[in-house]
Amino acid sequence: MSILDKFSDPALCKTLLDKIHAELKDELRFMEVCGTHTVSIFRSGLHTLLPDKIIHLSGPGCPVCVTHDSEVALFLELAARDDVIVTTFGDLIRVPGPGGGNLKKAQAEGARVSVIYSPMDALTIAKENPDAKVVFLGVGFETTAPTVAATLQMARRMGLDNFLVLSFHKLVPPAIRALGSDPEIRLQGLIMPGHVSTIVGIEPYQFIAKEFGLPAVVTGFDPLDVLQSLLEIIRQRNEGRAEVVNLYTRAVHDIGNPRAVEIMNEVFTEADALWRGIGMIPGSGLVLSEAYEQYDAMKQLGLELKEVKPLAGCRCGDILKGKMAPNKCPLFGKACTPAKPVGPCMVSTEGSCAAYFKYHTDL
Ligand code: SF4
Repeated sequence: MSILDKFSDPALCKTLLDKIHAELKDELRFMEVCGTHTVSIFRSGLHTLLPDKIIHLSGPGCPVCVTHDSEVALFLELAARDDVIVTTFGDLIRVPGPGGGNLKKAQAEGARVSVIYSPMDALTIAKENPDAKVVFLGVGFETTAPTVAATLQMARRMGLDNFLVLSFHKLVPPAIRALGSDPEIRLQGLIMPGHVSTIVGIEPYQFIAKEFGLPAVVTGFDPLDVLQSLLEIIRQRNEGRAEVVNLYTRAVHDIGNPRAVEIMNEVFTEADALWRGIGMIPGSGLVLSEAYEQYDAMKQLGLELKEVKPLAGCRCGDILKGKMAPNKCPLFGKACTPAKPVGPCMVSTEGSCAAYFKYHTDL
């Protein structure tokens, strides 16, 4: 058995599960912030093995899901322009905008929308289409932003003047602060996002323990990781402690990745941002810095976020705040399925609704 296989080893998982059952005293409401953890918990069936007293809340860690209706409306506005080629990662093209349209539909109707695997691919498209403005839709967290920043630096080195970024990148710590301050959610512990933590490290999470008195554990995505982090949260609570702990040391350094943070800070600057379901969170977004404003789609194309009607009937906002389980949405599995998603939480592979639909065994 390889070292990585051990993180799914049934015997080791059973040992940890036994300890969780033995040491859990009271109800534990924990949130996993990252969509990949949601999928991991359901794919491995852990939700069926944990004590009933453990209440699992999904958080705002799916980038496509937290993209606000007004932002999606702007993507569609861009796609409707003859002078623009929209470039984007795949998940985003199926996210419904106001009125039910999406980028995939726009593409089928003739809009120039290209799905790419790396933002660098957008530079190739820009080079090959000098008469068009090539706009990359910047959606994602601290994990994605450094790559987009490096792409912008490359665009400058290449002398490209028709490449733009519409930056709706979001930052995880301010969102957690907003949720931690919401008395309705009643968080008792957090599993922190492994991918984001590879960039930011653990320092930006210290306020969770210090100000909110909550245990927060950075962890990986295998069953053993999740169980180990739950046991850590239970033990901290039993001992009256609240600490930020990094249990994902095979991927995350406590200091994160300083070079990636440096590149991100060279290109982007913090700004207020809109989150689906949560609304405006101060300092929770990244926009292009003054030094890079020639690549800023908002400024160069004169774009403006407008108030739009939210998706009718969709409860993604409540789900992203841990206030509702996906299968409690009246549309779940009926009007809304992965084949015909009503909201982004059913579109994205990291979305809680999609994970519940695909793996929840007790529907
Ligand atoms: Fe939205 Fe569909 Fe999830 Fe309901 S099931 S919250 S409609 S994505």
